[in-house]
Amino acid sequence: MIKIGILDLQGDVSEHQMMVKNAVNKINLNAEVLKVKTSSEVTECDGIIISGGESTVIGRLIKENSIDNIIKENQIPVLGTCAGMVLLGQETDYDQPLLGLIPMKVKRNGFGRQKLSFEADLNINTLKTPYPGVFIRAPYAYDVGDGAVEVGQIHGKIIAVAYEHHLATAFHPELTNDTRIHEYFLKEVLNCVE
Ligand code: GLN
Repeated sequence: MIKIGILDLQGDVSEHQMMVKNAVNKINLNAEVLKVKTSSEVTECDGIIISGGESTVIGRLIKENSIDNIIKENQIPVLGTCAGMVLLGQETDYDQPLLGLIPMKVKRNGFGRQKLSFEADLNINTLKTPYPGVFIRAPYAYDVGDGAVEVGQIHGKIIAVAYEHHLATAFHPELTNDTRIHEYFLKEVLNCVE
């Protein structure tokens, strides 16, 4: 049995929990899906999801609770969405605490005022048919470093990056009915525990 923790510091946590549960059922996995807040709860997890929200707030709480150290020491795979993508990066256009788990820079609110929120069908490398992307004050990635793979772009901007067992998406897979991104992450987690 694997344990997936949704980091419950701030943001749209319940939606992720629901989607992971749906994904778990779909691929018939034996998994526990729970909200986690403290470093000792995070230690117990095989995979961690960092939701959308405010990356400055979530990042500060991650540092205060030493959750970044636990994730790094235990090499726990992380799925970061929107604010979670920001936190997985190594540098942003703000001065803020980051995990830096993926070699990439991130531009926050990267789609400008007129496109603060939008939806678009995305071609994601690992998926056979388009994925419904929901973007809300979304970031994009740039200067993606060695070993990291750009798995999706829109308007020439990188909106999904995979590196080792981590995945960052600028969009919100938890706000769709499409479980494929969560399924992909669950399989990454499984590869790590096996
Ligand atoms: N713009 C937010 C940030 O940079 C992210 C927005 C979101 O997660 N929907 O923290």
